Amino acid sequence: MELSTTENQRMIADMIRDFGTKHIRPFMRQWDESQEFPVDVFKELGKLGLMGVLVPAEFGGSGFGYLEYVTAIAELSKIDGSIGLSMAAHNSLCTGHILQFANDAQKKKYLPKLATAEWIGAWGLTEPNTGSDAGNMRTVAVQDGDHWVINGAKNFITHGKSGQVAVVIVRTGETGDSRGMTAFIIEKGTPGFSAGRKEDKMGMRASETTELVFQDCRVHQDQVLGNVGEGFIQAMKVLDGGRISIAALSLGIAQGAFEAALAYSQERQQFNQPISSFQGISFKLADMATEIEAASLLTYQAADMKNRGLDVNKESAMAKYYASEVAVRAANEALQIFGGYGFTKDYPAEKFYRDAKLCTIGEGTSEIQKLVIARAILK
Ligand SMILES: Cc1cc2nc3c(=O)[nH]c(=O)nc-3n(C[C@H](O)[C@H](O)[C@H](O)COP(=O)(O)OP(=O)(O)OC[C@H]3O[C@@H](n4cnc5c(N)ncnc54)[C@H](O)[C@@H]3O)c2cc1C
Repeated sequence: MELSTTENQRMIADMIRDFGTKHIRPFMRQWDESQEFPVDVFKELGKLGLMGVLVPAEFGGSGFGYLEYVTAIAELSKIDGSIGLSMAAHNSLCTGHILQFANDAQKKKYLPKLATAEWIGAWGLTEPNTGSDAGNMRTVAVQDGDHWVINGAKNFITHGKSGQVAVVIVRTGETGDSRGMTAFIIEKGTPGFSAGRKEDKMGMRASETTELVFQDCRVHQDQVLGNVGEGFIQAMKVLDGGRISIAALSLGIAQGAFEAALAYSQERQQFNQPISSFQGISFKLADMATEIEAASLLTYQAADMKNRGLDVNKESAMAKYYASEVAVRAANEALQIFGGYGFTKDYPAEKFYRDAKLCTIGEGTSEIQKLVIARAILK
């Protein structure tokens, strides 16, 4: 496994730090409070090549691999996890699904727009009654001539309202049949397709999360992504890659919380000395640093394997599971190091704390990651 940072990774990290200082840090608290998804900033990030990181240059993307992708999401999430989450969902889920499974005509139509963030992408698997148990989804598509008619709803969908295009996985066969689901590409404005309620969330508030509603939504068969009946199997493969991006998101949040706590511990004086001189505080920092290093190694290992075309089902689940739990622990300890000030909105600790929790839930909870890992090691 390659451990040294490449020139591209350094360039991406510098670019994001610079962009973040000017265009994210000054506004992130306002977005968090008003729960605003900053579409313009997202599109600016698209112009920098960050919304088509893995998309080949022939389709308008940056043509990078997973190492650069992890660096980009982690660096962005050190600043604001919400923007990191939106970047991960756009790149890995909607764009990633089309990149992996669409036909040439679909790739030519959608990838250049998504890779530049001219269009924002959404991806719908989860439903109100089926989250971890997504294979039991109830949203149904019925064939009618050369069209499919979709009825049902998806929830917790990132960019459900702002997305110009969504990839959705719906039932086209029997319940309980993993080959009974199909993926469709659906454009905003398609009759019968609309965004529903926007969630009011504890964290990741600048990343938009809404319902998608389908009421006799007629979609031409040309919008089927890959083959009929393969939607769920495709989705599981998309999530194998997507989990690397949530591991990167977790890593960034953990690093951001750690860096803030480290700096504060050296400034804050109690008993006439910096609090970092107390063993109780320095051991917290030592634990955080060690766990972040381990999470980083797991994440970059999964990224390196993905770059080499290897099966990352177990490794991406391990990276996502471990890094997300580390993010929650690191954010918790960072807040503790900030003391009472950590509990206020004047310091960044409380936002890291609120944002980190999503990482153990989105794209498969920690329990589901353990299920994936256990299945892989027991087979
Ligand atoms: C901010 C945000 C953004 C999201 N973005 C998207 C998106 O863009 N697209 C999309 O499709 N989805 C998205 N999701 C949905 C997300 O993937 C689901 O919330 C997640 O998969 C969990 O599903 P659930 O919320 O229905 O929880 P449930 O599945 O109801 O789980 C509840 C609890 O039961 C546990 N549990 C369930 N099954 C088992 C089991 N077999 N063994 C042990 N424990 C189990 C879970 O671990 C959890 O602790 C998003 C969610 C959030 C909060």
